[in-house]
Amino acid sequence: MPTWTLHTVFTFDAAHYIEGYDGKCANMHGHTYKVQMSAKSTVLHPSKYLPTADMVCDFKELKWPATDTEKGGFDHGLLNDVMETATTAERLAELIHKRTMERIPSSIQLTVTVWETPTSWVEYSDE
Ligand SMILES: [Zn+2]
Repeated sequence: MPTWTLHTVFTFDAAHYIEGYDGKCANMHGHTYKVQMSAKSTVLHPSKYLPTADMVCDFKELKWPATDTEKGGFDHGLLNDVMETATTAERLAELIHKRTMERIPSSIQLTVTVWETPTSWVEYSDE
């Protein structure tokens, strides 16, 4: 079966603290979060910007987390202000996945990878 997997990587800077954590992660601190979006599809779709079915999805629809909080993203924000869950990398990846699926065709298999540091990351998908 023909399969396309679109990948894009970007970063944003954000502050957070983990409530209830027994250790220094309970103190407010910042990370340069790196995010990889991998969008896999066996069919191509049109997008808001291209009327013909020639894309998995538009890269623009995958990069929203890197915008600032006024535009709905996370850059230079405090994650605790914009997340209803604990602000772990696991929950952040889950939230990014959920909000991205609201923007792209539902047949796409999306995998979201979030690096909290260059050596520690989490991968989330709902397969
Ligand atoms: Zn942290």
